[in-house]
Amino acid sequence: MTPAIMPDRLNRFARHIVLPEVGGAGQARIMGAHVVLVGVGGIGAPALQYLAGAGVGRLTLIDDDVIEPSNLQRQTIFALADVGHAKAEAAAQWVARFDPDLVVQAHRTRIGHDNAAALIAGADVVLDGSDNFATRLAVSDACVAAGVPLTSAALGRFQGQVANFAGHRPGEACYRCFVGDAFDADDCDTCAAQGVLGAMVGMVGTFGAMAALRVLLEGVASLGDPQWGQLHVIDGLKPGLRTMRIAHDPACTTCGTDRPAA
Ligand SMILES: [Zn+2]
Repeated sequence: MTPAIMPDRLNRFARHIVLPEVGGAGQARIMGAHVVLVGVGGIGAPALQYLAGAGVGRLTLIDDDVIEPSNLQRQTIFALADVGHAKAEAAAQWVARFDPDLVVQAHRTRIGHDNAAALIAGADVVLDGSDNFATRLAVSDACVAAGVPLTSAALGRFQGQVANFAGHRPGEACYRCFVGDAFDADDCDTCAAQGVLGAMVGMVGTFGAMAALRVLLEGVASLGDPQWGQLHVIDGLKPGLRTMRIAHDPACTTCGTDRPAA
């Protein structure tokens, strides 16, 4: 039974509802969903715009950064007046202005192995747009442990990578199956050194939002095919898109069936 959508919300989301791939049931599902965004920077900010636009009913925003002038070139929810403010809180204020019906919670903190379980509790999907492997692995491990699907969106110069992971399900790969253990202590925030094109990071962020919506709609609407473990590689220069399958690693230290007992 699909919960009813109130008349003012029906109008706001009319273009979703008429889409056969979403429909009224899909829109109701999106409005009842809880999405956790890890990072509301280059990838998270455009992802947030489209997830809030889609009417995701509950949004948890996690970021410990402060807005700098050099962020404004790509983190489009922030304006000059936000410089010096916390990203998580400024992003939550953006959501409140954009759609006061959405419930939003900001956490000005760095997510890691110590706090990830609490921060992602109750999420229907976690969208990770963070900028380093240590964070990504901590988030992925917490998702597998909690049985929460993970949308991973990442960018290196003109190459974007977006995938949905369900490492908690038998036979499905997790993010650690993909990258292994080697990066646990590594920090590779390379935007400052290598440069990044704003429109490119926007493309990856919105691709991530679309992937997260596919997770939310699984079993509800035909768009809801999460394509678990399929890594979409976006070449922004060509431009081009190719997809490769990430295999479940039986020896994965997080989700592998052959891993040593803890
Ligand atoms: Zn794994």
